[in-house]
Amino acid sequence: MVPRSINLATPIGELKSIGPKNVVRLRRLGIHTLRHLLWHLPARYEDYSQTIPISDLRAGEKVTIQGEVIKISVKRIFPRRLTIVDAIIKDDSGVARAIWFNQPFIANSLTEGTPVSLAGKVSLDKRGLYLGSPTYEKMTSHTGNLRHTAGLIPVYPETEGITSKYLRFLIQPILEGAYFEDPLPKTVREQYGLVDLNIALHTVHYPSREKDIEAARKRLSFEDLLMFQLKALIERRKVAQLTSTVIPFEAGFIKKVINSLPFVLTGDQKIAAWEILSDLQKPYPMNRLLEGDVGSGKTVVAFLAAMQAAKHSFQTVIMAPTEVLASQHFQTIRMLSKDHDVDVALLTSSQAILNDQEQTKAKIKQSIEHGAVQIIIGTHAVLQKDVRFKNLGIVVVDEQHRFGIAQRSALLKSEGQTTVPHLLSMTATPIPRTLALTIFGDLDISLLRQKPKDRMRIITQVVNPKQRHETYSFIDEHIGAGRQVFVICPRVQLPTESIIPETTLARQNRAHNLCATTGGLASTSAKKPMQRKLNLLWAEVKAVTEEYEKLSKELFPHRRVAMLHGKMKPKEKQAIMAEFKSGWHDILVATSVVEVGVDISNATIMMIESADRFGLAQLHQFRGRVGRGGHQSYCFLLPTSDETLVNKRLKALVASQDGFELAEQDMKLRGPGEFFGIKQSGMPDLTMAALTDMDLIKKARIQARILLKEDPRLTRYPLLRQRLEEFRSLSHFE
Ligand code: ADP
Ligand code: MG
Repeated sequence: MVPRSINLATPIGELKSIGPKNVVRLRRLGIHTLRHLLWHLPARYEDYSQTIPISDLRAGEKVTIQGEVIKISVKRIFPRRLTIVDAIIKDDSGVARAIWFNQPFIANSLTEGTPVSLAGKVSLDKRGLYLGSPTYEKMTSHTGNLRHTAGLIPVYPETEGITSKYLRFLIQPILEGAYFEDPLPKTVREQYGLVDLNIALHTVHYPSREKDIEAARKRLSFEDLLMFQLKALIERRKVAQLTSTVIPFEAGFIKKVINSLPFVLTGDQKIAAWEILSDLQKPYPMNRLLEGDVGSGKTVVAFLAAMQAAKHSFQTVIMAPTEVLASQHFQTIRMLSKDHDVDVALLTSSQAILNDQEQTKAKIKQSIEHGAVQIIIGTHAVLQKDVRFKNLGIVVVDEQHRFGIAQRSALLKSEGQTTVPHLLSMTATPIPRTLALTIFGDLDISLLRQKPKDRMRIITQVVNPKQRHETYSFIDEHIGAGRQVFVICPRVQLPTESIIPETTLARQNRAHNLCATTGGLASTSAKKPMQRKLNLLWAEVKAVTEEYEKLSKELFPHRRVAMLHGKMKPKEKQAIMAEFKSGWHDILVATSVVEVGVDISNATIMMIESADRFGLAQLHQFRGRVGRGGHQSYCFLLPTSDETLVNKRLKALVASQDGFELAEQDMKLRGPGEFFGIKQSGMPDLTMAALTDMDLIKKARIQARILLKEDPRLTRYPLLRQRLEEFRSLSHFE
């Protein structure tokens, strides 16, 4: 059936059994190659394992019967434009009826005398027992080839024009006709009791027994996880072969810097700093992720590294995703470094400051090029473009954990420099351990789990819409006492294009300043009814401008209300953030621009509109915007409607303040794909599910180490090597 030249990497367009129209439709399901097709696994199975005699039919049961069509007719019922196909089927034990609606062609196919197999549900009407719209299949002389009506029948995830029935017609002959050589070495399979690839594929599509399915899935998952681990280990090895600048760790000097800080470091901050400073003195580049919940104090850890680098005349660049954050980092670093002899620059599209003086961009760039500035802070947009460094030692990337591996490697090189700078990536989104081990397997990770001591628990409540006005009074009291308030709304205005499925890349590009991720609203198959529904959903969502009008004119006319959203010019945003920070505004109505890192210690209330629209991790981020000073802080979650009052995510948020715990839950609730934004990467659901299986991940990790240790180039396992190359060329996270 399947020609020899076809392998799992073959594009589906080259398969004879798929017409061009269906090629397009299948791609919509993320199916581009034969591998994707065969890895498009059943969502469930219909159990038609029991073929029973017609005399045993009982209403309400799902059954398969086999017999001969003895009569078939088509009736048209005009007022309702309905056609009914009515057939009578006979086997040795008796006769039964089968009925189909609006499928008149069936009568042409199942002519009288045709042997047929029917699977469906038995119903009863006044004329007796019948099968309603059963799945049917003509039987040839032998019945071994039944695909739709016998045994456990796969039911696949479908899309417009692609039914399970079609997929069965497509997949089953391929499985029958092809043999795929197993990339997993036999020894590995034996070690972990994994079945052969072909058996796994057959079983997962057409299991003979339900209990075999899990072993088959496990076999497929293991292979994927092994690929992740091999890839990570190889990346690590590649990095270890590069040369970096050696920045000696001077404990005495660092102690002095620590003593100059206005606070005492937490234990975790000390450990992270130690890990980083130890990495910096190695001859190959650091590749480390600093993970710490909001407010855990990551900046100061990066600052210590930058100070050590500056001591040896190396520059550090800190890249922030937005101007607001860049500017804030600048202020923090300036504050932390005030007692030290170090020059700090800020460079964004609208700002160019050296220490405390505004300068032209050209001049600052020149200073950077001459090495007169040791710490450079800015946005990616500006810094990645045309800034040349004299002696770049460390690259710090803030709040960009969605940063792709390719982008990361591009950053590692700066012009005119033969050595590669150290990389420290910082993120406030706690990444569940299973994901960290697979997706970030190539990085070393430092964790800040402890909060600085003076942090209080943030009182978190889901507000019943009926209590909205009480909440406003509460807010007003707090403003009266001198505090400030955030009000978060999901979107700037009703989107017109937002329903179009977005790629991860597109999402990345606007993740930080346009809007909230919609937690499942962006659909892969943009069908019309779906679209209408989404528009309706969005129509309910409060636009930030509307909210601003309401708050400033109706509810708080006596207070100062400001607005911040991603469509404003950077300069405007900058000004508003600065004004809010200085205490000028009482209330800041904002979209998710304030999501990451913004630090306003006098803000004590975080009110989130349509809170159920946000992901758990993101809600936790918002909450982290308050509770940064000495005052008791509050987070109020306003659900979209009464129905969403009991939203699981909101409940979880009320129950826990631990970002790591919440991240684990978020991933469980939304799946790794939604959680991490790897949905449309062509990664099969099976692989996604495997990303949460700690036990299997550990096994794959150990196995990857063993394999590469014994055979660094995998020359003994050419199939595995080929599979790995295929895997590595797919960018799952970019
Ligand atoms: P994040 O990890 O969210 O980026 P920041 O680095 O912005 O956190 O730190 C948040 C605030 O906490 C800053 O004002 C910082 O100066 C302060 N901070 C950091 N570490 C400590 C500490 N150990 N004790 C008290 N305050 C700290
Ligand atoms: Mg930060």
